[in-house]
Amino acid sequence: MIRRIIKIAVYVLVRLISRIIYFAGHKFAGREATNNKARILAYHRVCQLPREKWIEQNNVLPAAFEEQMRYLKEADYNVITLSDLVRLCNSEEHFTPRTVVLTFDDGYVNTYQVAYPIMKDYGFLPTVFIIADLLEIDGSLGWPRSNSGSQLVTKQNDLVREYLNIDELTSMSNQGVEIGSHSKTHQNLVSLDENDLEMEVLSSRQTLSKRLGTRVQHFCYPFGLITESKEKTSRIIEVIRRSGYASACCGRIGAVRKNSNVYLLKRIPVYEQDRLVDFKAKVNGAFDWVGYFQRLLALFLPTLLILMTYLNK
Ligand SMILES: [Zn+2]
Repeated sequence: MIRRIIKIAVYVLVRLISRIIYFAGHKFAGREATNNKARILAYHRVCQLPREKWIEQNNVLPAAFEEQMRYLKEADYNVITLSDLVRLCNSEEHFTPRTVVLTFDDGYVNTYQVAYPIMKDYGFLPTVFIIADLLEIDGSLGWPRSNSGSQLVTKQNDLVREYLNIDELTSMSNQGVEIGSHSKTHQNLVSLDENDLEMEVLSSRQTLSKRLGTRVQHFCYPFGLITESKEKTSRIIEVIRRSGYASACCGRIGAVRKNSNVYLLKRIPVYEQDRLVDFKAKVNGAFDWVGYFQRLLALFLPTLLILMTYLNK
């Protein structure tokens, strides 16, 4: 009984805090729109999916995505490639106000089937981060690909993920979409030894570059590389740099500034529950400060995990 009450209290508290962050964000929306910051938006899936809990956050519905891209176009946002942004970070040039970069993690097939045609209509070129090993098995992760062209197939009531194959990637790459590495097997790099780290970072770049016939320039940390250990972070960054990458996107929420570390580029995630008004607030800078909460949460995460283990017993 007590556990149930604590569980409900934690749930209510989390919802409350997230709503406060949202509303506070809206209040400040627009104030920072014209300052010298750029924002990298982070998407995962863009497709029509049943509301399963584990993917709820990372799936944006096609109609909402279309609305978001239309807003960027009509509100005259400067949508540039990640390479352009990195070049600006490394130069004396200033960012144009309202600069946005579009990124997609994990390489889901709906990036090509659903999101890309919409972005193409508006003349936007995204960066797509691919898990290299999934290409070796034709994007199927050992599960059968759907022949119906739908974004997922259901097998024994399980959701089965589907990833981009080499033809789809090559087609996008030939049209100017940047393909980046999201590691070899999508492991948390923080816990890997030197050899495995090199394998995830360097070999994924080599595989992707070879299969695509182009130089892969950008990396995206699996699970975002959220660690408060400066030592671990700089050890990983060193391997990324040595492997020839020009930049790396992490999971920290926030805007990119002129002096940002290009190997720890913050992003703004876009979620399924974002209404257009939330999206506008995000690209206007209202959520740049959420990253500070994220860092606080990371500090309290061990305690939170112990509490959750206790509650789930
Ligand atoms: Zn990922």
